[in-house]
Amino acid sequence: MQRITIAKGDGIGPEIMEATLNVLKAAKPDIEWDEIEVGEKVYLSGNTSGITKDAWDSIRENRVFLKAPITTPQGGGYKSLNVTMRKSLGLYANVRPCKSYHPFVHTKHPEMDVVIIRENEEDLYAGIEHQQTDEVVQCLKLITRPGSEKIVRYAFEYARLHRKKKVTCFTKDNIMKHTDGLFHRIFKEIAVEYPEIKAENMIIDIGAARLADTPEDFEVVVMPNLYGDVVSDIAAQISGSVGLAGSANIGPEVAMFEAIHGSAPDIAGKDMANPSGLLRGAVMMLNHLGEQDAAESINNAWSCVIEEGLHTADIYKEGVSSRKVGTREFADAVIARLGQKPKKLASASFAKGVKLKVTPYQRRKVSKKQLKGVDVFVDWKGMDASELADKLQHFNSDIKLNMITNRGVKVWPEGFEETFCTDHWRCRFEVENGHEADKRSIPQLLTQALSNDIDVIKTENLYEFDGERGYSLGQGQ
Ligand code: NAD
Repeated sequence: MQRITIAKGDGIGPEIMEATLNVLKAAKPDIEWDEIEVGEKVYLSGNTSGITKDAWDSIRENRVFLKAPITTPQGGGYKSLNVTMRKSLGLYANVRPCKSYHPFVHTKHPEMDVVIIRENEEDLYAGIEHQQTDEVVQCLKLITRPGSEKIVRYAFEYARLHRKKKVTCFTKDNIMKHTDGLFHRIFKEIAVEYPEIKAENMIIDIGAARLADTPEDFEVVVMPNLYGDVVSDIAAQISGSVGLAGSANIGPEVAMFEAIHGSAPDIAGKDMANPSGLLRGAVMMLNHLGEQDAAESINNAWSCVIEEGLHTADIYKEGVSSRKVGTREFADAVIARLGQKPKKLASASFAKGVKLKVTPYQRRKVSKKQLKGVDVFVDWKGMDASELADKLQHFNSDIKLNMITNRGVKVWPEGFEETFCTDHWRCRFEVENGHEADKRSIPQLLTQALSNDIDVIKTENLYEFDGERGYSLGQGQ
């Protein structure tokens, strides 16, 4: 018998959790649950993270967590519990199957069956943001080799386990050559280890457009965190309703399962909510726990209810649905059909006794890292970059000013008058003749900046790794 942790959450959370637990009790998997409180009440008691130490202990002990949606109160410095949980527990893979149930649930995409695999811990969600000048705020985008390798491997292992034939990667590496470029490069490296699976890469803009237009051309799609957040909601919505999709957050030790939608306060307490998202999250959880019989039985009973047209308000459609039902009645209908198989929708058949395993990350040989210069970021209220260049050019150092950019665009030397400039200037100092810079040159430069009243707000060192440039050129350079 396996113990899991559950939380009923906020808004429609308690109703859909009760419905889900009733179905679980009836399907009788070999599990028991401990309940914890997370979310609004905990936040409003003064705990800005929305979760207590006892609740953490339960999740870390049981290692499997079924969570109903929660409400994060606005303002007041409350931290998103979902982001905290994913990062603190190392839940690096977010898996969202988005499938259409045509003709029983209205969709423009009857053949859609896509699984979005979203990196869950890094990218712009590292939450490292700074205001640096009156006019400019920045957010640091972190893409790491370990993070990218783990998620890409997970996507290919998932495809292999579920007998999918193709994995597509979405990146924007035509623009972000280093961050998204690393993700894409790792995708290509790892794809070679799975010769039976077709690997394709698309630039996210055209990829997302095609996914929205012809989702039947996609099977498994893997991408960094922010793109995955946006694209997975679109995919769920065009498959029929955000109310239908479940999601798994998987880490090496702990896994969390939930619905993809939020706490829907507008319909809370009205017995109107569709419990399918959480129920489908629970089916993913049963698969994860090795309880495939119960998972199949619930999945099939759920499909029977959908094809009989017993629909909650969000998917109810005159002429397609046979009856509008509430949350409780929907769950009772699923329970009444346990043991039955759907007549038109595909019957579930989950692989038994095989667990998805991802080889742990192995650090590579340390590369030869050479300092080539420094980008010095300056808060300056002037408008003409050549005035700023005049102040910096005569600094005495082995690294010399060779470019100034504003929002990434080269404005000196030979800038255009038309280029709009803010008060945030990136001044690039580089070694000449390709030598290695002396690290002491950087504090020496900063000291000279200080004595010349230059307001330096940050620096970024410029490195080569094994002879390859590890930084981008200025636009127009
Ligand atoms: P939402 O997903 O709660 O609701 C969006 C719309 O979809 C609403 O009209 C709602 O009525 C409808 N809807 C959602 N789930 C439904 C269901 N199961 N059945 C029928 N209709 C459903 O998104 P929101 O309104 O932007 O957010 C509300 C709250 O949820 C916010 O506090 C937000 O922070 C939180 N949230 C929590 C999670 C989570 O806990 N995983 C995820 C997203 C949002």
